[in-house]
Amino acid sequence: MTADYHLHSSFSGDSEAPSEGMVRSGISRGLSLLCFTEHYDPDYPYPEISMELNVPAYFSEIRKLEKQYREQIEIRFGAELGIQPHLGDLLHSWIRQHSEKGCAFDFLIGSTHLVDRLDPYYPDFWTSRSQEEAIRRFLDITLENIRAFDGFDVYGHLDYIVRYVPEGERRFSYSSYAEQTDAILRLLIQKGKGIEINTGGFKAGLSQPNPCRDVIRRYRELGGEIITMGSDAHTPEYVGYRFEDAKEVLRSCGFRYFTVFRERKPEFIPL
Ligand SMILES: [Zn+2]
Ligand SMILES: [Zn+2]
Repeated sequence: MTADYHLHSSFSGDSEAPSEGMVRSGISRGLSLLCFTEHYDPDYPYPEISMELNVPAYFSEIRKLEKQYREQIEIRFGAELGIQPHLGDLLHSWIRQHSEKGCAFDFLIGSTHLVDRLDPYYPDFWTSRSQEEAIRRFLDITLENIRAFDGFDVYGHLDYIVRYVPEGERRFSYSSYAEQTDAILRLLIQKGKGIEINTGGFKAGLSQPNPCRDVIRRYRELGGEIITMGSDAHTPEYVGYRFEDAKEVLRSCGFRYFTVFRERKPEFIPL
């Protein structure tokens, strides 16, 4: 069984793909389960992209697709939350409000997309500091984010920042940042939270998924057991992208199972 637990469609500000096309692609690629995880990044500082999410419209679309494709694939309702250290209360109440209105999520990813109100995707982020300082700051903020808000199920693309480093090899070196990385992994494990293996790293031209094999192996060594698989696809052709490679990475790191969520509860599926 294969399940893609990180997918965007036109409900996300940075995708134009209709959700139905993503579902059809999942079916044609042999997935048995997929979970949409549309973006919600409150207080996003770039006005050219809206990272707000119309939850009621999104929820009714998912319910419609779920019925329509019931015989072919299971579809679940999730979101990817862009965390910043000052957003803890806002995110908790956003989740609660929607749950009270009948739009309860199956699965939530927490992600660091912003560091000091800058997105590493844009060159501005890199001009004011060295590459190493930038990566250290990203990891510090990730730790702060998890302390400020733990209402998610897995942390998204933990070494996401390496997708955008301007110079040298775009590869996360666990050994260079072991202490900070371990602090993040230990806190996640202590809180009962998972991570994901995000094959968007391959799509971005990296030789590794996000996070890289060394970080995934370390999470397992420290006792972590919860790991979802996600393509981070924003267009249909990347649904389930390189999942066979991702499964090989998971096995080589000591995993025998990957994780899916329903109504925020983990279920473990043999690899
Ligand atoms: Zn993300
Ligand atoms: Zn994403």
